[in-house]
Amino acid sequence: MPHDMNNKLVILGGGESGMGAAVLAKKQGYDVFLSDAGFIQPSVKKVLKEIEVPFEEGGHTLPDILQAREVIKSPGIPNTAPVVEDVTQMGIPVISDIEFAARYTPAKKICITGSNGKTTTASLIYYLLKNAGLHVGLAGNVGQSFAYQVATKDYDIYVLELSSFQLEGMYDFKADLAILLNITSDHLDRYGDDLMEYAKAKFRITQNLDQDDCFIFCRDDEITMEQLDKIVLKAKMLPISQKEVVTQGAYALDGKMHVTYGKEEFEMFLDRLSLQGRHNVYNSLAAALSAKIMDLSNPQIRESLSSFKGVPHRMEQTAKVRGALYINDSKATNVNAVWYALESMNTPVVWIAGGQDKGNDYSSLFEPVREKVKALVCLGTDNKKLLESFQDKVPVITEAHSMEEAVAQAYDLARPGDTVLLSPACASFDLFKNFEDRGNQFKEAVRKL
Ligand code: ADP
Repeated sequence: MPHDMNNKLVILGGGESGMGAAVLAKKQGYDVFLSDAGFIQPSVKKVLKEIEVPFEEGGHTLPDILQAREVIKSPGIPNTAPVVEDVTQMGIPVISDIEFAARYTPAKKICITGSNGKTTTASLIYYLLKNAGLHVGLAGNVGQSFAYQVATKDYDIYVLELSSFQLEGMYDFKADLAILLNITSDHLDRYGDDLMEYAKAKFRITQNLDQDDCFIFCRDDEITMEQLDKIVLKAKMLPISQKEVVTQGAYALDGKMHVTYGKEEFEMFLDRLSLQGRHNVYNSLAAALSAKIMDLSNPQIRESLSSFKGVPHRMEQTAKVRGALYINDSKATNVNAVWYALESMNTPVVWIAGGQDKGNDYSSLFEPVREKVKALVCLGTDNKKLLESFQDKVPVITEAHSMEEAVAQAYDLARPGDTVLLSPACASFDLFKNFEDRGNQFKEAVRKL
């Protein structure tokens, strides 16, 4: 518990992360108040009542909030929200739940960020460490909130998936192992369309690293390398690549991966990896290298990399109907993720795409779409941009206004041997609760066929 007079901590946002922060803050003896401009889930309210944390919903009572010594902001609330501007103007520090929770655990922290592949890589690393018998928790954007686990568990290690929004609210936080998978234009709408600002937010994962810590980054990623040129890091620099040999780090060439960390080495044939596709090779390289850093044995790493079951809604094989394979890639909410999805296709594709546009530039998809996509089903409330971008590149384009309709159209268009791929390139909020809801509705509609 802090010793000065003001003991008041305000939490903005009553979602999963806000609830976890409330539980931990209360446990640490703070005077906690939670405020949400929208509505709070009944399950969260129940917990808040149980731990006797006062809360409000449907608006913010500013005088109460401005009494805080510190404000913990949910990553979903932008810095430009009026309440955040008011708090900042008063000089009250605004931090993320991750920054807050890290103060109360001595556990080792393996942190993953990037535009794509975070959940997959975090889940894979977690699986590797858990299989090796380590006492490890998975948190951040996946699983239970980090703060909640810090309050209720005593893990030795955490694997943390960090979005750029969480990283923005992190200052003294220090990772023990930081992984930056890639940087491509996603969420640019929240960075004033400035790619370098977004890149900088991602690089916050490296802040406070010292010479004993490791930094894994992708040498094949242009924006990462450009940014890396401008800064000096104390950490051990460990690149991953699918284009060139690296002496320390990990690379994959000619169907085989090679990992070197200090004097330790690990090798494995790529066709033995459970996660297939070029993007997943990067994820597996980062995971194998992390496992080596954590001192796992080669048989342990090999076994787990080939038995990992994958994560739902990421290139998830749903079913085969009338000879066509249906794949749920609902989590592909940006153009780059779709690029990798299409790249891994080796059949004609009926592509279901669309939703809420995030300032998408589709030009990088033109070539793979021309080559592989035989039909496009646009699924969104406003399909104008998709239609305009692809009208002269795909033989058949249709429009649907519900998942059921989209799957029915895809079913009519698909022939035996084709793949029906839901890989939207857009956010889901126009027609669905979130990407999980979109993926589940897809799976449900496919099952009904
Ligand atoms: P994130 O948590 O960063 O959103 P996910 O692991 O949930 O990443 O994957 C999101 C989407 O990106 C999926 O469609 C997946 O197939 C694709 N993807 C996964 N790993 C990568 C990668 N390393 N590079 C590009 N795309 C990827």
